[in-house]
Parts: sequence; C-alpha cells; structure tokens
Amino acid sequence: MIIKGAAMTGKNEKVNSYEMAKKQVDIAAKYLDLDPGSIQKLKHTKRELIVHFPVQMDDGNVRVFTGYRVQHNVARGPAKGGIRYHPSVDLDEVRALSMWMTWKAAVVNIPFGGAKGGVQCNPKEMSLHEIEHLTRRFTWEISLMLGPEQDIPAPDVYTNPQVMAWIMDTFSILKGYSVPGVVTGKPIELGGSAGRFEATGRGVVTTSLEAMKTLRMSMEGARVAIQGCGNVGGVAATHFDRLGAKVIAISDSQKGILCERGLDVKRALDYKAKYKCFVCESKDETEITNEELLELKCDVLVPAAIENQITEKNAPRIKAKIIVEGANGPTTPEADEILDDKGIFLVPDILANAGGVTVSYFEWVQNLQELIWSEEEVMDRLTRIMQKGFKEVSEISLSKKIPMRAAALVLGIGRVAEASRLRGIYP
Ligand code: NAD
Repeated sequence: MIIKGAAMTGKNEKVNSYEMAKKQVDIAAKYLDLDPGSIQKLKHTKRELIVHFPVQMDDGNVRVFTGYRVQHNVARGPAKGGIRYHPSVDLDEVRALSMWMTWKAAVVNIPFGGAKGGVQCNPKEMSLHEIEHLTRRFTWEISLMLGPEQDIPAPDVYTNPQVMAWIMDTFSILKGYSVPGVVTGKPIELGGSAGRFEATGRGVVTTSLEAMKTLRMSMEGARVAIQGCGNVGGVAATHFDRLGAKVIAISDSQKGILCERGLDVKRALDYKAKYKCFVCESKDETEITNEELLELKCDVLVPAAIENQITEKNAPRIKAKIIVEGANGPTTPEADEILDDKGIFLVPDILANAGGVTVSYFEWVQNLQELIWSEEEVMDRLTRIMQKGFKEVSEISLSKKIPMRAAALVLGIGRVAEASRLRGIYP
C-alpha cells in the first residue's frame, strides 16, 4: 500500500512528509508564545491547485499528468519555491515542501513566503521534447498563481535552468512581454544570477564550516560523505574538495562509490555527467548502496537527495559527527531524537540548504531592478547571510538548550507568526 505524501525510505517504510512538517510546528510552538488559532493557521497551506493535463508524447499518444502548486504562507512576501519532477510527487509532499520553504526564507530573513510545485512523472523516461511540452502546459495550467509579485518557482529535483527558461518563456507569452522575475534559477542569458547554480551547495559548505568551527574541527582532511550528486550534492562535493576535505563517498539514486583515501571528485562527477552512472575507476574504490553510505564513519554527512532517508531504523547506526541537510526533510523527527542522544551535531535543512532561496532572492531583486551583480558580490552576500543565519540559530540553540533543528524552527516560525500577527486577520 502506498501512503499519500509518503517518500520511500531506504528500508521501504513510508513516512508522510506533511505529517512530519506539522509535528515540527508543534515542536517549535512549545518555545513560542503562540495561541492555538495561530498554530492551526501555520499548519495549514494557504492555496492548493491540482491540475490534470494532457501532453502529446513523441510516439503520438497523449498522456495525462498530474501536477500541483501549493502556497503555504505569504505573510512575509511573495510565495517562493521550486518545482519538482518525480514519480513520487503528491499533494502531501508538496504541502510539506511548501511549509519548509516558508520557514527557510524566514530563518535567513529573506522577504518571501513559501510555495512548492511538482509534476508526478519520470523525467528519466521522457525525451527533452516531452519534458518541454509537459513544462509549458503545466506552466499554463498554474499560471493564475504565478508572477513576480505573487509566486516565483525555481529548480528542484529533476528540474534545471532549461526548465526554468521554458517556464519564463511560456509565462511571458501569456503576458505579451518578457517577465524574467517570474522564475529564478534561469540561465544567465535570460536574467539568471551569477552563482545561483552553485548557491545551495555553497551554502551547505558554508554552514558545514560553521559547524566545524563550533566543534573545533578542521576542514583540511575531514572525511565527507554525500548522498545524491545532483545540483546540491555535486556542487557541495566540488567545494568540499576545493577546501581540502576528503570526499570519501558520493551516490546517485542507483548506488554510490567509496574511496577511503578520498575520491577524485572531478573525475567521478565528469564520469557521472557523461555516462549517467558512477563506476569504480581504481582498485581503492568500491561500490556501496545508499543505505551503506549513510552509515559510513565520517566527519560530515550530507544527505542531498530526497526526504526521509534517516529514520528511526538507521539513525542508531549513523556514525557521522556532523550532519548537514542539503536535501529537504531527509531526517524524520524520530530519527532526530536518536541523533541528538548520540550527540551528533545536525545543521537542519531550513538553514543548511537556504543558500538556494537566498540567491534566488538576489536573482529576483536583480530582475526587478534590472541590475547585474558579479559572482563575487553574490557569493560575498550569500556567505554573510548564511553565517548570520547559523549564528542566530546557534544562539537560540544554546540559550534554550535545544537542538539546532528546534532552534531553526523557533527562529523561522517565530518570524512568520509575528508577521501574521502584525498583519492581522481580514476582514
Ligand atoms: P537534482 O535533481 O539535481 O539531484 C537529485 C539527486 O538525488 C540526484 O543525484 C539523484 O540521483 C539523487 N536521488 C534521487 N532519488 C534518490 C534516492 N532515492 N536515493 C538516493 N539518491 C537519490 O536535485 P537537487 O536540486 O540537487 O535537490 C536535491 C535535494 O536538495 C532535494 O531535497 C531538494 O528539495 C533540495 N534542495 C534543492 C535546492 C536547489 O537549489 N536545487 C535548494 C534547496 C533544497
């Protein structure tokens, strides 16, 4: 039986991400002076659109796809959040992801609310033409919710700058003029920002560095394991490597490779880009499963794939000193408790992967003001925002004696609740 909104874990049990996200609101509410009505509002999404739409496939047949766009909360600004193409996308997953976007923007104090979208499909089995047709029709279907002042999509799992270009083009055709500010993560040639592609992975590394400073650990020679090697995992691996860490393992949805003395990251990622899989290229390298990767003895573990990868089942076997959540929702609340008891320092998703929404905000600002910032300017601002976010979350964690996740939720949810209180209820 498939539970709605459930992501498969490595051990085949299923967890409902939306239920997990609502539990996190309860955790933060214990430390915030919120009335029951406010808590109820924060647990609900604001708008949900489900669309079923036809796409003409390359073989001439028509297939109907189901897509979603959900806006969770817009108290602090326009809704912002990625679009995901994946077979397991459903309403509860998109709801959870939209809620996490709201808290994330608030943790790094970016003036956005939270949204998310997705289409239930398997892009690995589709041609580029089919993905373009699906993207353009999906954009048309949800266009009533989109706009630079309303709701601004970005890339997520199995979507990329090209998909953003098609969304921007379709929306612009509907309007009759170019609207670059309707999406972020676009190609630079269409108004994308320098540094946006690297932003989330770079933010993961910045927060890893801050966590290592806290624990008086050095980046030089640190053993790093990364689950997932897409935009977030791939960029993070490259940057860890540049800073002198030893990336000992990396994976994709099929399998991973392990090299105790440190992988040749560039060679591994180049091979993956060319042949769509990893292969052991020397006798020091061995194949491992995604489950084994998570349980490796390492200094920093970066889950950078999908939700619900660290659960109560495998948490007791996790040996990392620090976990930095590149993915959204990779750890269940039950696993959180186990990791905390084991003394593992966890940098939660709504802080660790906030680099993406931060540079998306820079891209949106540049589009609206018709400015172009240099990569140095973008990276400098990104680093400062990520360091400030880490410091603010750490201070709450220390003063309230709570784990970093609870502290980040207190900061993010607290800011959203205060914005909602100040705006009041209409009419
Ligand atoms: P991507 O599509 O570029 O890469 C996803 C990676 O995960 C791929 O390497 C894929 O092989 C792997 N993967 C997929 N299913 C897997 C499974 N069952 N087990 C192990 N690996 C699996 O996506 P991305 O943009 O890098 O996003 C990764 C995660 O980071 C997602 O949770 C996403 O929501 C989150 N995130 C992304 C951004 C961003 O800017 N792209 C920002 C914030 C958070």
